[in-house]
Amino acid sequence: MKVFFVGAGPGDPELLTRKAERLLRGARCCIYAGSLVSPAVLELLPADAEKHDSSALNLQETTALCRQARDRGVDVIRLHSGDPSIYGAIGEQMRELDALGIEYEVVPGVSSFQAAAAALRTELTVPELAQVIILARAGGRTPVPPEQELSRLAATRATLCLFLSVDQLDELVGKLTPHYGADCPAAVVYRASWPDQEILRGDLATIAAQVRDAGIRKTAMIIVSRSLGKGLPVSKLYDAAFTHGCREGTAGRLGPQP
Ligand code: SAH
Repeated sequence: MKVFFVGAGPGDPELLTRKAERLLRGARCCIYAGSLVSPAVLELLPADAEKHDSSALNLQETTALCRQARDRGVDVIRLHSGDPSIYGAIGEQMRELDALGIEYEVVPGVSSFQAAAAALRTELTVPELAQVIILARAGGRTPVPPEQELSRLAATRATLCLFLSVDQLDELVGKLTPHYGADCPAAVVYRASWPDQEILRGDLATIAAQVRDAGIRKTAMIIVSRSLGKGLPVSKLYDAAFTHGCREGTAGRLGPQP
């Protein structure tokens, strides 16, 4: 018997890994994060599988379900949205399972920041402007250590992907603008890859009002980055003149430049 922590991906069942799909189709017992996992993914579960929505349960209750499944010799599919390693609270569940001697395995998933980048048809890294991607959240009822506060992270001007924060966008914009500039492109993707996906594109000066007008309060990814803008520098990777391990560039053939 094993517990499988499975990434459900952002919503579209076609974005599940093959392993996740196989496990879901064969599931006898599934505990799923009901507030975020899409119904289209849950439809893959067999009709007679035991299903538990974890949004109404606490850690002791989900652990008890795993223990009962162990006693019956039934595997548990613990389904988390996106990738389970990001804001999934799987660490504490694993420690509980360790204490009970229950085996587990993690199946990664496509995260919502990746689905949002795809929806925006953007590259999150851009030569010279953004070579670092920060996955973060605003502090709220879940505290963020002071040295990881957004105002500190903003000083890097890296591409920012913000989870769990769209309801605090007004306040966030105030922290980010001094570093990124009011004209820095910003986008919000609501329910990336769901049938009702919504995309808002603007900049730090406009995005909070756009989100307010659209009435978006949750299940949205915020991306703040110069990479969403226009007229960006091109990379060396495909630069005709640039030589690297797999290809000799024209500059190499012409010999050293003056
Ligand atoms: N493990 C998940 C994140 C869980 S935290 C992952 O890798 O995506 C929950 C937050 O993820 C939400 O508040 C929202 O910011 C984001 N999120 C999850 N699914 C989303 C989706 N389909 N579209 C946009 N954002 C999503």
